[in-house]
Amino acid sequence: MNEKLERSVVYLKGVGPKRAELLEKVGVTNIYDLLGYYPRDYIDLSVPSEIRSLTVGGEEPVVVRGRIVRKLPPAHIRRGMTIFNAVFTDDTEDLTIIIYNQDYLFSTLKVGESYILYGKLTGNTFRKEMSAPAIYPADSQDLIQPVYPLTEGLTQNVLRKAVRNAIDLVSGEVTEIMPKHVKDQLSLCSLITAWENIHFPKSIDSALEARRRLIFDELFVHALAVAYRRELENNSSNFIMKNVDMSGFYASLPFELTGAQEKALDDCIVGMCSPERMNRLIQGDVGSGKTVVAAGAAYFAHKNGFQSCVMAPTEILAGQHYETFRKLLEPLGVRVGLLTGSLTPKNKKEMQSAIALGEYDVVVGTHALISESVKFFRLALVITDEQHRFGVEQRAALSAKGNSPHRIVMSATPIPRTLALIYYGELAISIIDELPKGRQPIHTYAVSGGVRERAYGFVKKQLDDGRQGYIVCPAVEESELDIKDVKSYYEELKNGLFSEYKLGLLHGKMSAAEKDEVMRSFKDGELHLLVATTVVEVGVDVPNATIIVIENADRFGLSQLHQLRGRVGRGSCESFCILITDNGTPEVIKRLKLISSTNDGFKIADEDLKLRGPGDFFGKQQHGLPDFKLADLSRDINVFRQGQIMAERIIACDPKLSRPENRVLNELVSRLIEKGAEMN
Ligand code: ADP
Ligand code: MG
Repeated sequence: MNEKLERSVVYLKGVGPKRAELLEKVGVTNIYDLLGYYPRDYIDLSVPSEIRSLTVGGEEPVVVRGRIVRKLPPAHIRRGMTIFNAVFTDDTEDLTIIIYNQDYLFSTLKVGESYILYGKLTGNTFRKEMSAPAIYPADSQDLIQPVYPLTEGLTQNVLRKAVRNAIDLVSGEVTEIMPKHVKDQLSLCSLITAWENIHFPKSIDSALEARRRLIFDELFVHALAVAYRRELENNSSNFIMKNVDMSGFYASLPFELTGAQEKALDDCIVGMCSPERMNRLIQGDVGSGKTVVAAGAAYFAHKNGFQSCVMAPTEILAGQHYETFRKLLEPLGVRVGLLTGSLTPKNKKEMQSAIALGEYDVVVGTHALISESVKFFRLALVITDEQHRFGVEQRAALSAKGNSPHRIVMSATPIPRTLALIYYGELAISIIDELPKGRQPIHTYAVSGGVRERAYGFVKKQLDDGRQGYIVCPAVEESELDIKDVKSYYEELKNGLFSEYKLGLLHGKMSAAEKDEVMRSFKDGELHLLVATTVVEVGVDVPNATIIVIENADRFGLSQLHQLRGRVGRGSCESFCILITDNGTPEVIKRLKLISSTNDGFKIADEDLKLRGPGDFFGKQQHGLPDFKLADLSRDINVFRQGQIMAERIIACDPKLSRPENRVLNELVSRLIEKGAEMN
């Protein structure tokens, strides 16, 4: 690439050491970074308003165009503070320009000359004023001005000049990262044109054209990095399995698999039989029955003589999977073991040696599975459930166990297709888009706190019918905010409204053993009602539970509400979800309306992504998503697909990106991979 792009901004005209330091604060060190420091908005000076039509005191700055009628003598308010005034008109009305201290600026303004002003209108109805406006000559060529995100000490003017100089510096030379055939095929403008037009567009259209090119760059380079990395990894399978008789498994199931489950299991089986290592994501809505698919895959591996492990993010879930796997597989002669952090050191040791000796065919556990001291025996399949709750390193550590085992990832919540493609870029995807037969839709109602009593009356009716229920609160302990906290709420309900029922309490600050005990008694029907925090969110399965009440529902994201709601509707009885909130802001109403109107997790996920953006979709924790500057994953899916196709083609011809024409791409991809955590 153009060598000048790598130069430090210090050497740029109009920057220097001091400003370079400020720029570093916003992540800009070299010329290339500066060109990638895109405006967050534009000021369009080409459409001025009439002064007469403007009202004083508006929040938004305005654009006016006119001439200076006269300059008033300066007023010295106090030492070192001078105010300059000039009267300005656009022939509909006058306004007074107020300039503080800038003698030079004031002296350049000429009576009779035309200017464009940009600023907030102040003063009063009798005398409109504009304090310290941005002033442009009326014949200015640059009627669309970039507005940059700033940091203290850095002004729009400094940035505009620096970027201008940077573009001028590099524009003489060939500066292009994109192979010509890609550029031509998608009729993208050149990189230098894109830089010119994203920073200094002549029209909004040309800015959009520039954006299109730059968005493509971001997504294309990301897709290329994913494809490149996948090629680098050893993809050949160390465990090429043979087809085995699965009829025992199917016959022992208490139900028939749905078509989608069968398809997903087939995908897994084909994957494990292929000469390539399997890397598969199983996506399905809550309650779609992913666990049994995983069990089928583990059974298949076992019949081939291999060990599998299943990692869940919490003790409750690991325990539940352990039970499910045992129920499904032990009658078929599969030995299932459980390894979690809460075992006594002695039991843990015994468990570890049994795993290493191959005394278990399927090992279920929490992140305890990835500890150094766990050695597996002929481990050929690693299944992780609720994947995105694990950190990037944890995932990598488990995959590194054994000798490149096959991998199945089960996602907890439906993920919009775009996010799945990007976040799980190197994985093949199976989607379970069908619920088991006989499932009833969950009726969802959003109500205000005023009708809580009635809602609880309804809960009682369910309990009296022999069903069970959940009440979910966002906080564990009493907080300053007016949030229902689970502990005191539990006491309140137990001693009040629900005194005739058996209540359980579940929250994240309890020990694993305590949580397990509560969960067990709830599952066994010893408790009627579970008052809980979002601990119950993750995959807890009690088919007899038919009602869930969510307090302060506005505090949860859409996908999280959907996940919580998925705790009910798991059996054949009609189920209900009541969302309580006193927050009536339009945004909250919109969310709750949406969730009340559909049970389709994929649709909800799409909306959630639109409302919250990709970063927040997975929650505030490390989400491992690349941080794109312009690309928006909820909008640019088609562009991403195009980029992916192009990237695959390039990698197919030049897997190591070693050809001279791909040198620049190689540089960019290496840079992206170095940043590491940006990708899964
Ligand atoms: P999730 O996809 O949310 O992890 P689970 O695997 O926990 O869902 O399954 C939800 C419930 O549905 C479980 O009680 C499970 O036994 C049941 N189930 C799974 N598959 C079927 C099926 N094909 N027919 C009937 N019930 C099923
Ligand atoms: Mg599950």
